Amino acid sequence: MIRKIYMLNDFLKEKFNEKIYKVSLDGGFTCPNRDGKVSRGGCIFCSENGSGDFTATKLKSIHAQIEEQIDLVSKKYKGDKYIAYFQNFTNTYAEVSYLRKIYEEALSHEKIVGLAIATRPDCLEDDVLELLAELNKKTFLWVELGLQTLNDDVAKYFNRAYETEIYKEASEKLNRLSIKFVTHIIIGLPKEENDDYLKTAIFAQNCGTWGIKLHLMYVVKNTPLEKLYLNGDLKVNTKEEYVEKVVNVLENISSEIVVHRLTGDGDRETLVAPLWSIKKIDVLNSIHKELKRRNTYQGKLYYGGLK
Ligand code: SF4
Repeated sequence: MIRKIYMLNDFLKEKFNEKIYKVSLDGGFTCPNRDGKVSRGGCIFCSENGSGDFTATKLKSIHAQIEEQIDLVSKKYKGDKYIAYFQNFTNTYAEVSYLRKIYEEALSHEKIVGLAIATRPDCLEDDVLELLAELNKKTFLWVELGLQTLNDDVAKYFNRAYETEIYKEASEKLNRLSIKFVTHIIIGLPKEENDDYLKTAIFAQNCGTWGIKLHLMYVVKNTPLEKLYLNGDLKVNTKEEYVEKVVNVLENISSEIVVHRLTGDGDRETLVAPLWSIKKIDVLNSIHKELKRRNTYQGKLYYGGLK
């Protein structure tokens, strides 16, 4: 039977022979796009928590956060192995000695079998890459890069504060070190051209991305994006539009790319729009229905070469 989507859960089950959960950790980082190093204010959609609204309580030790998260997860699921996910803000933006300390603290927990580190492609200095290469040899590791779009004009508008070329260079360095990376892509960015999202996915694939995370452009309270939305300067996707675009991406990427996420995960307390996105199960069901209706699957239109 043809697999419709190669989800992260499938990959992890194949690799570890059991279901693996992620525990989201807060390493106390900030972001160079907020603290003035490259810009102030951050990406216009970024919430105060740095797009990691569901991470464990701040300022606790990594070990304590892991225990707390495992406690929460194990109330719902059975499982004994976890991936430590550094999610909030830019998780390589610190002295390498500090990075080593917190990554190694996470790995020293008996239930942690891997590391996932979310960052910006302009925060992968040589010493950071050296550390990641070292960790990559002793654990299961992936790095997440917030590309969002390949369109530099769109990126400028939402204040990504680095050019797409930087992502390409980072991908080359990670590929050379055989470090897996996941690319974040947002569908429905302000000023996005019709098929930018699709070109972005194909571009990321051609840069060697191991996984993709598809996000819906959703509006969160107290962000510059909220002002745009309330002024009528941003039109959010309807559920039908979003579902169609997700399926377009799935059809065009290789069946080997690991899909980490299919929709956004906004906090219902702070979400402004689109409100349909709160019903995550409904969105996921709609994606599966659309795959069925179009009689298609991940990789159906992938032809294996550069586009
Ligand atoms: S790079 Fe990430 S953490 Fe920094 S402002 Fe943008 S979304 Fe927020």
